[in-house]
Amino acid sequence: MNKLLQINDSLPLTCSRRGTCCHGNQVFLNPWELRRLATERQLEVRDFSAQFCDWNGIRLKFDGLKDQRNKKSCNLYIPNVGCSMHEARPLACRLFPLGRQVQEGKSTYLFQGNQFPCLDGCSEVNQLPFLTVENYLEGQKVTEFEQAQDAYLELMQNLADVACMLFFDTGLAQSGDTKTRELWRRMGGEDVALLVDRIGENWFQMLIHPSISFDPINSSTFVHDHEMLLIEKIQDHINQLTTFPEISDFSIEIMACALLIGKTIGADVKALAEMWSELKA
Ligand code: SF4
Repeated sequence: MNKLLQINDSLPLTCSRRGTCCHGNQVFLNPWELRRLATERQLEVRDFSAQFCDWNGIRLKFDGLKDQRNKKSCNLYIPNVGCSMHEARPLACRLFPLGRQVQEGKSTYLFQGNQFPCLDGCSEVNQLPFLTVENYLEGQKVTEFEQAQDAYLELMQNLADVACMLFFDTGLAQSGDTKTRELWRRMGGEDVALLVDRIGENWFQMLIHPSISFDPINSSTFVHDHEMLLIEKIQDHINQLTTFPEISDFSIEIMACALLIGKTIGADVKALAEMWSELKA
Protein backbone atom coordinates (compact mmCIF):
# COMPACT_ATOMS: atom_id res chain seq x y z
CA MET A 1 0.00 0.00 0.00
CA ASN A 2 1.60 3.23 -1.07
CA LYS A 3 -0.80 5.95 -2.16
CA LEU A 4 -3.53 6.13 0.40
CA LEU A 5 -5.53 9.31 0.76
CA GLN A 6 -5.81 12.75 -0.66
CA ILE A 7 -5.80 16.07 1.19
CA ASN A 8 -5.69 19.76 0.53
CA ASP A 9 -5.47 22.84 2.71
CA SER A 10 -9.14 23.58 2.81
CA LEU A 11 -10.27 20.34 4.45
CA PRO A 12 -9.41 18.89 7.86
CA LEU A 13 -7.09 15.93 7.37
CA THR A 14 -9.24 13.50 9.29
CA CYS A 15 -12.92 14.16 9.94
CA SER A 16 -14.65 15.14 6.77
CA ARG A 17 -17.91 17.05 6.65
CA ARG A 18 -19.75 13.76 6.11
CA GLY A 19 -17.84 11.79 8.75
CA THR A 20 -17.92 8.31 7.21
CA CYS A 21 -15.46 7.25 9.88
CA CYS A 22 -17.71 8.58 12.66
CA HIS A 23 -20.79 6.47 11.82
CA GLY A 24 -21.46 2.82 12.60
CA ASN A 25 -18.03 2.10 14.04
CA GLN A 26 -16.64 0.80 17.30
CA VAL A 27 -14.09 2.96 19.13
CA PHE A 28 -12.57 1.58 22.33
CA LEU A 29 -10.77 3.85 24.78
CA ASN A 30 -7.77 2.92 26.87
CA PRO A 31 -7.58 4.75 30.25
CA TRP A 32 -5.21 7.42 28.87
CA GLU A 33 -7.44 8.13 25.88
CA LEU A 34 -10.48 8.30 28.13
CA ARG A 35 -8.72 10.77 30.41
CA ARG A 36 -7.51 12.75 27.40
CA LEU A 37 -11.05 13.17 26.06
CA ALA A 38 -12.55 13.97 29.48
CA THR A 39 -9.85 16.56 30.18
CA GLU A 40 -10.35 18.22 26.80
CA ARG A 41 -14.09 18.32 27.46
CA GLN A 42 -13.42 19.71 30.95
CA LEU A 43 -15.38 16.91 32.56
CA GLU A 44 -14.59 14.40 35.28
CA VAL A 45 -13.79 11.04 33.67
CA ARG A 46 -16.89 9.46 35.20
CA ASP A 47 -19.12 12.23 33.89
CA PHE A 48 -17.58 11.99 30.42
CA SER A 49 -18.07 8.20 30.45
CA ALA A 50 -21.68 8.50 31.53
CA GLN A 51 -22.44 11.00 28.78
CA PHE A 52 -20.45 9.70 25.83
CA CYS A 53 -19.57 6.04 26.45
CA ASP A 54 -21.12 2.62 26.86
CA TRP A 55 -19.59 -0.72 27.88
CA ASN A 56 -18.87 0.63 31.40
CA GLY A 57 -17.13 3.63 29.90
CA ILE A 58 -14.55 1.95 27.67
CA ARG A 59 -16.27 2.41 24.29
CA LEU A 60 -17.61 5.56 22.62
CA LYS A 61 -21.38 5.59 22.21
CA PHE A 62 -22.61 5.58 18.61
CA ASP A 63 -26.13 6.72 19.27
CA GLY A 64 -26.35 9.95 17.29
CA LEU A 65 -28.12 10.85 14.07
CA LYS A 66 -28.01 8.38 11.17
CA ASP A 67 -26.07 9.08 7.98
CA GLN A 68 -27.13 8.30 4.41
CA ARG A 69 -26.09 4.68 4.97
CA ASN A 70 -28.46 4.46 7.96
CA LYS A 71 -25.56 4.22 10.42
CA LYS A 72 -25.69 6.12 13.71
CA SER A 73 -23.00 8.66 14.50
CA CYS A 74 -20.58 8.78 17.39
CA ASN A 75 -22.06 10.98 20.11
CA LEU A 76 -19.07 13.32 19.75
CA TYR A 77 -19.86 13.97 16.08
CA ILE A 78 -21.55 17.20 15.04
CA PRO A 79 -23.57 16.85 11.80
CA ASN A 80 -22.09 18.81 8.89
CA VAL A 81 -19.21 19.96 11.09
CA GLY A 82 -17.24 16.86 12.11
CA CYS A 83 -15.62 15.62 15.29
CA SER A 84 -16.18 17.89 18.27
CA MET A 85 -13.03 16.50 19.90
CA HIS A 86 -10.68 16.56 16.94
CA GLU A 87 -7.51 17.34 18.93
CA ALA A 88 -8.19 14.63 21.52
CA ARG A 89 -9.69 11.97 19.24
CA PRO A 90 -8.47 8.46 20.07
CA LEU A 91 -6.06 6.31 18.10
CA ALA A 92 -8.75 4.26 16.34
CA CYS A 93 -10.13 7.48 14.82
CA ARG A 94 -6.68 8.69 13.82
CA LEU A 95 -5.88 5.39 12.09
CA PHE A 96 -9.22 4.88 10.34
CA PRO A 97 -9.56 3.06 8.00
CA LEU A 98 -6.24 1.41 8.82
CA GLY A 99 -5.85 -1.28 11.43
CA ARG A 100 -2.67 -1.69 13.45
CA GLN A 101 -1.22 -4.96 14.67
CA VAL A 102 1.66 -5.27 17.13
CA GLN A 103 3.58 -8.53 17.25
CA GLU A 104 6.88 -9.06 19.04
CA GLY A 105 7.27 -5.31 19.37
CA LYS A 106 6.82 -4.63 15.65
CA SER A 107 3.78 -2.76 14.38
CA THR A 108 2.11 -3.33 11.03
CA TYR A 109 -0.64 -1.28 9.42
CA LEU A 110 -3.45 -3.13 7.71
CA PHE A 111 -6.16 -2.14 5.29
CA GLN A 112 -8.96 -4.53 4.47
CA GLY A 113 -11.05 -3.65 1.46
CA ASN A 114 -10.80 -2.70 -2.18
CA GLN A 115 -11.68 0.94 -1.85
CA PHE A 116 -10.86 3.59 0.68
CA PRO A 117 -14.17 4.01 2.60
CA CYS A 118 -13.96 7.82 2.53
CA LEU A 119 -14.40 7.66 -1.24
CA ASP A 120 -17.81 6.20 -0.67
CA GLY A 121 -19.16 8.54 1.99
CA CYS A 122 -16.96 11.61 1.64
CA SER A 123 -16.71 12.58 -1.99
CA GLU A 124 -14.51 15.59 -1.14
CA VAL A 125 -11.45 13.36 -1.01
CA ASN A 126 -11.62 12.91 -4.80
CA GLN A 127 -10.36 16.44 -5.23
CA LEU A 128 -7.31 15.98 -3.03
CA PRO A 129 -3.66 15.06 -3.70
CA PHE A 130 -2.34 11.61 -2.75
CA LEU A 131 -0.70 10.70 0.55
CA THR A 132 1.52 7.77 1.51
CA VAL A 133 0.69 5.74 4.63
CA GLU A 134 3.67 7.35 6.35
CA ASN A 135 2.48 10.85 5.55
CA TYR A 136 -1.06 9.98 6.52
CA LEU A 137 0.06 8.80 9.96
CA GLU A 138 2.27 11.83 10.40
CA GLY A 139 -0.67 14.10 9.67
CA GLN A 140 -2.79 12.22 12.18
CA LYS A 141 -0.23 12.80 14.96
CA VAL A 142 -0.46 9.21 16.12
CA THR A 143 2.82 8.94 18.07
CA GLU A 144 1.60 9.73 21.60
CA PHE A 145 -1.51 7.61 21.06
CA GLU A 146 0.43 4.63 19.71
CA GLN A 147 2.78 4.83 22.68
CA ALA A 148 -0.20 4.72 25.05
CA GLN A 149 -1.66 1.75 23.18
CA ASP A 150 1.63 -0.16 23.23
CA ALA A 151 2.20 0.60 26.91
CA TYR A 152 -1.27 -0.69 27.79
CA LEU A 153 -0.61 -3.82 25.73
CA GLU A 154 2.44 -4.41 27.91
CA LEU A 155 0.52 -3.63 31.10
CA MET A 156 -2.14 -6.15 30.06
CA GLN A 157 0.55 -8.82 29.62
CA ASN A 158 2.13 -7.92 32.96
CA LEU A 159 -1.22 -8.34 34.74
CA ALA A 160 -1.70 -11.72 33.06
CA ASP A 161 1.82 -12.66 34.23
CA VAL A 162 0.84 -11.85 37.83
CA ALA A 163 -2.27 -14.04 37.50
CA CYS A 164 -0.06 -16.86 36.14
CA MET A 165 2.51 -16.37 38.89
CA LEU A 166 -0.23 -16.73 41.51
CA PHE A 167 -1.33 -19.94 39.87
CA PHE A 168 2.01 -21.58 39.13
CA ASP A 169 4.38 -20.27 41.81
CA THR A 170 2.30 -20.57 44.98
CA GLY A 171 1.56 -24.30 44.93
CA LEU A 172 -1.99 -23.71 43.64
CA ALA A 173 -1.31 -25.54 40.34
CA GLN A 174 0.27 -28.47 42.16
CA SER A 175 -2.70 -28.65 44.57
CA GLY A 176 -4.83 -30.03 41.71
CA ASP A 177 -6.83 -26.83 41.20
CA THR A 178 -8.75 -26.86 37.90
CA LYS A 179 -11.21 -24.04 38.56
CA THR A 180 -8.79 -21.13 38.20
CA ARG A 181 -7.63 -21.71 34.65
CA GLU A 182 -11.08 -22.80 33.53
CA LEU A 183 -12.41 -19.43 34.69
CA TRP A 184 -9.57 -17.56 32.95
CA ARG A 185 -10.63 -19.25 29.73
CA ARG A 186 -14.34 -18.63 30.24
CA MET A 187 -13.79 -14.96 31.06
CA GLY A 188 -12.40 -14.40 27.57
CA GLY A 189 -15.99 -14.66 26.28
CA GLU A 190 -17.61 -12.58 29.01
CA ASP A 191 -18.92 -9.08 28.41
CA VAL A 192 -17.43 -6.04 30.06
CA ALA A 193 -20.16 -5.69 32.71
CA LEU A 194 -19.53 -9.23 33.95
CA LEU A 195 -15.78 -8.69 34.11
CA VAL A 196 -16.38 -5.45 36.04
CA ASP A 197 -18.58 -7.36 38.50
CA ARG A 198 -15.80 -9.87 38.99
CA ILE A 199 -13.20 -7.27 39.97
CA GLY A 200 -15.51 -4.97 41.95
CA GLU A 201 -15.83 -1.21 41.95
CA ASN A 202 -12.52 -0.35 43.65
CA TRP A 203 -10.38 -2.31 41.20
CA PHE A 204 -12.44 -1.04 38.30
CA GLN A 205 -11.84 2.57 39.33
CA MET A 206 -8.11 1.92 39.71
CA LEU A 207 -7.99 0.15 36.37
CA ILE A 208 -10.01 2.54 34.20
CA HIS A 209 -10.09 5.84 36.14
CA PRO A 210 -6.77 5.85 38.03
CA SER A 211 -6.14 8.78 40.39
CA ILE A 212 -2.79 9.81 38.92
CA SER A 213 -1.56 13.01 37.35
CA PHE A 214 -2.19 13.48 33.66
CA ASP A 215 -0.17 15.12 30.93
CA PRO A 216 -1.93 15.31 27.55
CA ILE A 217 1.35 15.16 25.66
CA ASN A 218 3.06 12.43 27.67
CA SER A 219 1.17 9.16 27.64
CA SER A 220 4.19 7.03 28.63
CA THR A 221 4.49 8.60 32.08
CA PHE A 222 0.76 8.19 32.66
CA VAL A 223 0.78 4.48 31.81
CA HIS A 224 3.97 3.94 33.83
CA ASP A 225 2.41 5.63 36.90
CA HIS A 226 -0.77 3.64 36.32
CA GLU A 227 1.15 0.38 36.32
CA MET A 228 3.06 1.36 39.49
CA LEU A 229 -0.24 2.12 41.22
CA LEU A 230 -1.67 -1.25 40.25
CA ILE A 231 1.45 -3.20 41.16
CA GLU A 232 1.55 -1.58 44.61
CA LYS A 233 -2.10 -2.50 45.30
CA ILE A 234 -1.59 -6.00 43.94
CA GLN A 235 1.46 -6.53 46.15
CA ASP A 236 -0.45 -5.32 49.23
CA HIS A 237 -3.22 -7.76 48.43
CA ILE A 238 -0.89 -10.69 47.75
CA ASN A 239 0.72 -10.18 51.16
CA GLN A 240 -2.65 -10.90 52.77
CA LEU A 241 -3.36 -14.15 50.91
CA THR A 242 -3.07 -17.27 53.05
CA THR A 243 -5.22 -20.03 51.51
CA PHE A 244 -5.46 -21.61 48.06
CA PRO A 245 -9.09 -20.46 47.56
CA GLU A 246 -7.98 -16.88 48.29
CA ILE A 247 -5.06 -17.18 45.86
CA SER A 248 -7.34 -18.66 43.20
CA ASP A 249 -9.90 -15.87 43.61
CA PHE A 250 -7.23 -13.18 43.34
CA SER A 251 -5.62 -14.82 40.33
CA ILE A 252 -9.03 -14.78 38.63
CA GLU A 253 -9.55 -11.11 39.54
CA ILE A 254 -6.18 -10.08 38.16
CA MET A 255 -6.80 -12.05 34.97
CA ALA A 256 -10.14 -10.24 34.65
CA CYS A 257 -8.22 -6.95 35.01
CA ALA A 258 -5.86 -8.04 32.20
CA LEU A 259 -8.82 -8.90 29.97
CA LEU A 260 -10.52 -5.58 30.68
CA ILE A 261 -7.39 -3.66 29.72
CA GLY A 262 -7.26 -5.87 26.63
CA LYS A 263 -10.78 -4.79 25.73
CA THR A 264 -9.84 -1.11 26.08
CA ILE A 265 -7.16 -1.55 23.42
CA GLY A 266 -9.35 -3.65 21.14
CA ALA A 267 -7.33 -6.86 21.68
CA ASP A 268 -8.75 -10.29 20.87
CA VAL A 269 -9.30 -11.18 24.51
CA LYS A 270 -11.00 -14.48 23.74
CA ALA A 271 -7.89 -15.77 21.98
CA LEU A 272 -5.65 -14.37 24.70
CA ALA A 273 -7.70 -16.01 27.46
CA GLU A 274 -7.50 -19.34 25.59
CA MET A 275 -3.74 -18.98 25.26
CA TRP A 276 -3.16 -18.02 28.89
CA SER A 277 -5.39 -20.84 30.17
CA GLU A 278 -3.27 -23.35 28.21
CA LEU A 279 0.07 -22.20 29.62
CA LYS A 280 2.23 -24.76 31.35
CA ALA A 281 4.46 -24.12 34.37
S1 SF4 B 1 -14.22 10.65 18.48
FE1 SF4 B 1 -14.47 12.11 16.81
S2 SF4 B 1 -13.33 11.18 15.09
FE2 SF4 B 1 -13.74 9.56 16.58
S3 SF4 B 1 -15.65 8.59 15.92
FE3 SF4 B 1 -16.16 10.16 17.44
S4 SF4 B 1 -16.66 12.01 16.25
FE4 SF4 B 1 -15.51 10.61 14.90
